Amino acid sequence: MGEMYNANCSCGLDMTFSIGEGLNAHNRNFINKLLKKQDVETFNEAYESGFVKLFKVENVPYLCEDCKRFGTTFRFTYELHSGETIQLVGKCSMCNKPVRILTKDTMLCPRCGQKINMEEVGHWD
Ligand SMILES: [Zn+2]
Ligand SMILES: [Zn+2]
Repeated sequence: MGEMYNANCSCGLDMTFSIGEGLNAHNRNFINKLLKKQDVETFNEAYESGFVKLFKVENVPYLCEDCKRFGTTFRFTYELHSGETIQLVGKCSMCNKPVRILTKDTMLCPRCGQKINMEEVGHWD
């Protein structure tokens, strides 16, 4: 289950977003829709060969350095039995550029740069 957070800042920023793992976190079909074809093939090959120890899809908050927007995207992580971990992260939903992932403890306001107040307001599947 993922968490819903309300993020607010003294400058007036106020937004709610969903992060964490939903019902599709461990669904292989869901991954097909998120990733590029080549990445799906690489993963499926490893999976079908029995190399994949675990995998998950999460929603993560980001700040886009390019268009300075704040949003959420997916992060797909899979770990191989060899110990190697591969992470694939979605692009900015506005400008399609690579994004910087934030953690909820270090989230700074995209408008004024201050630390944001984070309040858990619910859950999502
Ligand atoms: Zn952007
Ligand atoms: Zn602010």
